[in-house]
Amino acid sequence: EFSKNTDVIISRGELVEVGGSFRIPDIMELSGANLIEIGTTNRTHLEDYKKVITENTSMLLKVHTSNYHISGFTKSVNNKEIAELAKQNNIISMEDLGSGVLIDFSKYGLKKEPTILESLNSGMDLITFSGDKLLGGPQCGIIIGKKELIKRLKKNQFLRAFRVCKMTICALEFVFKEYVDENTAIKNNPTLNRILENIDIVLERAQILKSLLSSAGIDSEIIPTKAIIGGGSMPDASLDSYGVIIKNIDASLVEKSFLKQPIPIVGRIQNNQFFIDLKTIHSDEYSIIVDSFKKIIERA
Ligand SMILES: *Cc1c(COP(=O)(O)O)cnc(C)c1O
Repeated sequence: EFSKNTDVIISRGELVEVGGSFRIPDIMELSGANLIEIGTTNRTHLEDYKKVITENTSMLLKVHTSNYHISGFTKSVNNKEIAELAKQNNIISMEDLGSGVLIDFSKYGLKKEPTILESLNSGMDLITFSGDKLLGGPQCGIIIGKKELIKRLKKNQFLRAFRVCKMTICALEFVFKEYVDENTAIKNNPTLNRILENIDIVLERAQILKSLLSSAGIDSEIIPTKAIIGGGSMPDASLDSYGVIIKNIDASLVEKSFLKQPIPIVGRIQNNQFFIDLKTIHSDEYSIIVDSFKKIIERA
């Protein structure tokens, strides 16, 4: 809508490929934009943007490198400077945040992720993020920003093809309402809850699963592990967790059989033993796991 046949400027440090081999630059080019890459992989300066702005430039695009991290001798231009430069030149500034977060994770001892509000306050005209990454909502893409720009997007003929169904909107409304109170969101939103929960609670789940398995005659052991946050949302963060390993059963047999269950169970094989990470097991799911093990044992 905004950049067909015009130049969009992006730093070489932000040419990101996301899941399923989708690439931000390819998506932009498909929309008819002419991408102007500036700077280097590790360093891009405000001057680099200034130098290539012409009559034909429509947008300065910032992409949050949410799924990887470059450290060392690095520099990128902050949102505020990009937004200001865009304003001076009467063009659009846009940030693709990828994993949108509404709460500041650094308050809870995790790595700082830029929040949606911070991006908005920096003066960016348009911001995009996923509904289902760190936000913990339904799978969808969200665009927020200046009223007149959103209005234009709404009139774009493509919107009809990309509109989401009412179930998505309903789920999203529910999720956002819980965010009105941060503590409510942390308590009820499964994604937030599992990222921020206390390690003792994970251990408790592991102990319950172990004792249920033991009642069913299955030998298991609790071991500490590290869980990572999925969807390429926080590449550097690993969360302390506990897992249960199953003893005396062939791990690959368990793996194959578990994937074929009416409710498939995904674990991993570690040192030739089947391993279940309790980070993502809900309290009403123990019986599914135990019953699936029983089936294997009965058959063996
Ligand atoms: C994940 C991601 C996307 C794609 O979002 P989807 O909602 O999964 O399509 C785009 N940009 C960045 C930076 C991402 O991390």
